[in-house]
Amino acid sequence: MGDPSHPGWGRRLDRAREGLTQGHLPALVVSTPLNITYLCGFRGSSGLLVLTPDRTILIVDGRYASAARAGSLAGGLFPIEVYAVSDTYPRALATVLADTGVAAAGFEAAQVTVATLGVWQAAAPGVTFRATEGQIERLRAIKDDHEIVILRRAGKLLSQVATGLRSWVRAGRREREVAADINGALERAGFSEPAFPTIVASGPNSAHPHARPTDRRLEAGDLVVLDFGGLLDGYCGDLTRMFGIGQVSPTAWSLYEAVREAHAAALRAIRDGVEAASVDAEARRVLTACGFGGGILHATGHGLGLEVHEAPRLGPAQPGRTERLQAGMVCTIEPGAYVEGLGGVRLEDDVLVTNEGCEVLTEASRDLFIV
Ligand code: ZN
Ligand code: ZN
Repeated sequence: MGDPSHPGWGRRLDRAREGLTQGHLPALVVSTPLNITYLCGFRGSSGLLVLTPDRTILIVDGRYASAARAGSLAGGLFPIEVYAVSDTYPRALATVLADTGVAAAGFEAAQVTVATLGVWQAAAPGVTFRATEGQIERLRAIKDDHEIVILRRAGKLLSQVATGLRSWVRAGRREREVAADINGALERAGFSEPAFPTIVASGPNSAHPHARPTDRRLEAGDLVVLDFGGLLDGYCGDLTRMFGIGQVSPTAWSLYEAVREAHAAALRAIRDGVEAASVDAEARRVLTACGFGGGILHATGHGLGLEVHEAPRLGPAQPGRTERLQAGMVCTIEPGAYVEGLGGVRLEDDVLVTNEGCEVLTEASRDLFIV
């Protein structure tokens, strides 16, 4: 399991290599920046990581080469070979691949454009490039001890921020002002930055799941969706809570109750081995039974980690694809329903999938707060 106070780069690289062996790939060229960060700790806007069964080579340009070497020495980066680009990345990649002697290498099809692949192929005519999909993302979906420690802490800190909402959300204030208060609290709580643009959506705006804060002032009868998250040690937390201003209508209450019930049903459905789509189906079943099936506009949840949206996806089953939840995955549960004219309700928590069920990382109350 390793030392949870330190990223398990060595173990992650081992698992990536197991993936190479399973896919009969002699090498993998990792070009997605966050996948490179995940595997060896390097954080840069560009770089290529070449993995073979016995070598790990980071190709970086002059801006990063000495820092990468120094980081490697200082232990802030996994000890790997650093190869500095002298003219272009494709030529550097060709040189490195020739040096390793591989005849074929995988590339990340979701990240490498057709144009880039053409250039690589021209630079390294002796190498057959093979498309791979989600090699590293699949590993990232299951968190190791180090990541779980960070994500638990992020959940606790986000819950603390949520307790402050009562003092910021009130009639007469603008959505933008409330969002600024939340962003300030995220920073004070220790997050380096918001994980995504904070959502404060009131009244009619709450009917749009990704509404951006406006100058609209909160007024009596509004439902208010507050969706915010922070980046902690490179990892994302994500939370949504609901407020009502003054009296909200009986229909708004029913909408809230339906979403809360859907949230509970989804939580009950989570455990190691279940299909992600079945958790989504549970939330939909409840919302539909409550008469709000027509207001479902998004999936019930998404994985959380270095990115705020990553694998697994807790949405309707996709043809030919079965995604199962596994112990160690961290994801959100965020059913919502949106009714034009009435408003929307979403409740979102971060959970760690376990063998028996799940551990909720965000414990702030899910009540509809009336202020
Ligand atoms: Zn969210
Ligand atoms: Zn989310």
